[in-house]
Amino acid sequence: MLDNKENKRTSLEQLGEFGLIEHLTKHFVSEQQSTEKGIGDDGAVLDFKSNKVVVSTDLLVEGVHFDLSYMPLKHLGYKAVVVNISDICAMNAVPTQITVSIAVSNRFPLEALEEFYAGIQLASNYYNVDVIGGDTTSSQTGLIISVTAIGEAEEKDITYRSGAKDTDLLVVTGDLGAAYMGLQILEREKQVFLVNPNNQPDLEHYSYLIERQLKPEARKDIKALLYDLDVKPTSMIDISDGLSSELFHICKQSGVGCNVYEDKLPLDPQFINVCEEFNIDSTTIAINGGEDYELLFSIKMEDYDKIKGNPHLSVIGHIVPENEGLHIVTRENTKIPLKAKGWNAFKE
Ligand code: ADP
Ligand code: MG
Repeated sequence: MLDNKENKRTSLEQLGEFGLIEHLTKHFVSEQQSTEKGIGDDGAVLDFKSNKVVVSTDLLVEGVHFDLSYMPLKHLGYKAVVVNISDICAMNAVPTQITVSIAVSNRFPLEALEEFYAGIQLASNYYNVDVIGGDTTSSQTGLIISVTAIGEAEEKDITYRSGAKDTDLLVVTGDLGAAYMGLQILEREKQVFLVNPNNQPDLEHYSYLIERQLKPEARKDIKALLYDLDVKPTSMIDISDGLSSELFHICKQSGVGCNVYEDKLPLDPQFINVCEEFNIDSTTIAINGGEDYELLFSIKMEDYDKIKGNPHLSVIGHIVPENEGLHIVTRENTKIPLKAKGWNAFKE
């Protein structure tokens, strides 16, 4: 876990907009060859030579996407970068730059924004991306964060949602559902804390799940891993809204269906234990829980031997013709239609 310090409170008015921007961005240095000009002018200048450029943006709104009562600001900064890097990775591209824009109310002291930017800096160092700009403005209500990520790839490597073909195998990286259960634990502890603020929670045996929620990582390693295995994914997407929802995106855009096997879903032992403790079905959460930021992709069947046994990759099913639809095959060998139940910004 990342630590945070919170004693001094310097008001934002004291610095003014330009002082604030200067203060928050002075530590960023550009490392990428493609960055010709970073922070400091009206626009950044990038040069990708013959490579294609991939761009992705996410907007994070306090109270909708994050809750500051259990999300430390440093983690929030880190996660805001990661969710965007994940999108670039899901195009099978290499992330190179980000911009960070924030709307912030003056209830935040400078020290809170320093924490937030410490998280941004940690993630940008870890993922080797340059922070090349952004915007800073005030907000009447909560904190709003928009990160744009830029990446590069050779044209032949870029992988779309639309390339899956009948008989292709479906593969996921890492494991599923842990971030969702991490959130359930944090919500539960928040309720306990509201009732009894002196109660210090013992979160030791939930550490993996909480880490998956508060400090997710993007699978920047997978592009190189597949390259080394000589496997070209035929379609790819990152799992932000839940496996089922992402399967629907791939299948719809590729004009195919799929069968996914319950017994093939990769689950962490801690995840299984906590599902039992909460008395909820682990398969349901593995399929519908969001925010894992793993990658889901398809490969040609003949590439199976190349990925077989790789500890990062699990084959969870295969592509079928569109008219067969999307199904999960249970351990008892019954076929149940999948629902695109993933997290949806407009449901109540
Ligand atoms: P402008 O008036 O053109 O919007 P600003 O004064 O807002 O310029 O920004 C000055 C420089 O600082 C620009 O390079 C801009 O991209 C960068 N910048 C502004 N806000 C942020 C931020 N929150 N994070 C990172 N860079 C920022
Ligand atoms: Mg500006």
